[in-house]
Amino acid sequence: MARRKKHSRQCCLDCGLDTFEAEEYYVLHDELWQRINPQIEGMLCISCAEKRLGRKLNGADFADVPINIVHAERSPVIASRFWARDKNGMDLSDMRGYEI
Ligand SMILES: [Zn+2]
Repeated sequence: MARRKKHSRQCCLDCGLDTFEAEEYYVLHDELWQRINPQIEGMLCISCAEKRLGRKLNGADFADVPINIVHAERSPVIASRFWARDKNGMDLSDMRGYEI
């Protein structure tokens, strides 16, 4: 029977949230990821990643991979970080919902 087994690998290390189902699936730059998760393996939801980091994520933190864009389009949580730029503390979150 196809009883779907939960992959613990995709669950947040800190709170257990299924990051894939929650669409909180993203890739950060290696150095940044290593800083918040020295063991590298595993996933963190956005809010736990930010708790470990001590600040909000912004566009500059995300690696340049297509999966980030895919999930930024699906998840408002990812989008609000992904489209936010660090420069001058500029907040582009009002651009959410902008159709490309
Ligand atoms: Zn979490």
